[in-house]
Amino acid sequence: MAYQSLYRKYRPKRFSEVVGQDAIVRTLGNQVNTGKLAHAYLFTGTRGTGKTTVARILARAVNCENVQPDGSPCCECEMCRGIEDGSLMNVIEIDGASNNGVENVRAIIEEISYSPQRGNKKIYIIDEVHMLAAGQGAAFNALLKTLEEPPEYAVFILATTEVGKVPITIHSRCQRYDFHRMPLTTLVSRMQTVLQGEDHKVEEKALSFIARQADGSMRDALSLLDQCLAFEFDRDLTYDRTLEILGAVDTSVFSSMMDMVAAEDLKGAIKLLDDIVMKGREIQTFVTDFIGYLRNLLLISAEGSTGADIADVLGVSSDGYEEMKLVAKKFDPETIMRFIRIFSELSSEIRFSIQKKTLTEIAIVRLMHPEMQDDAASTRQRLAIIERKLDRIEREGVKMAAGSQTAESQPARPVKKAPLPEALPDDVKMVCDNWGRIIKDARDMVRGILYEARPSVDGDKLVIVCKDEVSAGSLKANEEDVRAILERETKKQISFEIYGPARGEDPEAKYPDLESKINFDVEIKE
Ligand SMILES: [Zn+2]
Repeated sequence: MAYQSLYRKYRPKRFSEVVGQDAIVRTLGNQVNTGKLAHAYLFTGTRGTGKTTVARILARAVNCENVQPDGSPCCECEMCRGIEDGSLMNVIEIDGASNNGVENVRAIIEEISYSPQRGNKKIYIIDEVHMLAAGQGAAFNALLKTLEEPPEYAVFILATTEVGKVPITIHSRCQRYDFHRMPLTTLVSRMQTVLQGEDHKVEEKALSFIARQADGSMRDALSLLDQCLAFEFDRDLTYDRTLEILGAVDTSVFSSMMDMVAAEDLKGAIKLLDDIVMKGREIQTFVTDFIGYLRNLLLISAEGSTGADIADVLGVSSDGYEEMKLVAKKFDPETIMRFIRIFSELSSEIRFSIQKKTLTEIAIVRLMHPEMQDDAASTRQRLAIIERKLDRIEREGVKMAAGSQTAESQPARPVKKAPLPEALPDDVKMVCDNWGRIIKDARDMVRGILYEARPSVDGDKLVIVCKDEVSAGSLKANEEDVRAILERETKKQISFEIYGPARGEDPEAKYPDLESKINFDVEIKE
């Protein structure tokens, strides 16, 4: 027999089996029992909250010959079975999102004038009805007309995940029911019920993790559970395996990340991110989960030490909770809010970017440096400046670029002519002279920082003078990249230092700008 997904296999057939939508099923059940049905219903809510399931139960119930006390269909009479196996045409389902949705609507509106051959009612379930409204007008207008004056035997059940896109003309003709996201506990207990019918043992911690990932959707919860069980068909499903299968990261990893942020250990944090990526985790998932972690951290931080039951509310294990309490002590709620903002921005930024890891590294740098009030606008501005420089370097060579840096990015910097170093070893000198060309080969973020930096010397050593401490920190975390570029160019081992001025510190005093010195030199000679 073909495999049937858990979601289909355990799809509720009676109102009493529907979980998480008690008020809705009670009201509908009463309507079936009292015969006070509406002609049109509008079911709204996010995916996987039971709209279609409830619509199907209602569709059977209104035709059932042996309605149950709670208004549910008996699932055994001829009508119930006929609808179930599709031999009775009393229930017609249309997917508004499908290509032929519009065609189907036209067809049903033509045949709606025929009363049902058997049973009391003809039920039309139209899923994602807002898509019809967005499409051609003719079919939709015909539907509206039918909704206005439906035949006695017709009941429309319209479902949508985007109620905002459903025109008011439909709202006004329907009885509306809002299906809510399901709480974690509901999802977990439903999964436990389902598992009783399956030959599987699953760690409870794994179930709460899956429930959190499902974000209120029963269908998502059961699909994720399905996915995990498919990998572990002959073994018990553990929490660790669940994380692995779903490509997720354990809470303790996030806690280590936050410890490093607190200690301003940028190198360690970048290394940790590397490890996560190496293990095959999706960056997007990591970022989303990290936001969830930060949200929990914020709650713990705001709650203080008083909330004893908060671990359950957060859906974290007790170990994870103890860890998080320690982490929460290191940050105040405002700081955590800032972190959430940074990662929320990152989350939408990386969705369509191919440089997911780089952008995430930059976000981590920003966590550690509150002085960087980098909003989207100023980032775009900085990118534009870098792009302009790139163009100019390509057109006019290195010197111009070095000149333009002084002119554009640091206009207020006073140019002090410091005493000339005794000698430049050839290799270091060559690097300095060809700076613009050499750094062109660097990758993404490294290149961005290098373009804003300038070369200088300290004795025999090359010094890369970054724009500021933050840039220097990011570059240090990618030191190996820089070394590779330099070695490729010089074919020698080149010793270098990365430096970025602290706030208020003048980099000129420490490492003079070679460009200005060369000019100075020339002036003297003349
Ligand atoms: Zn029945």
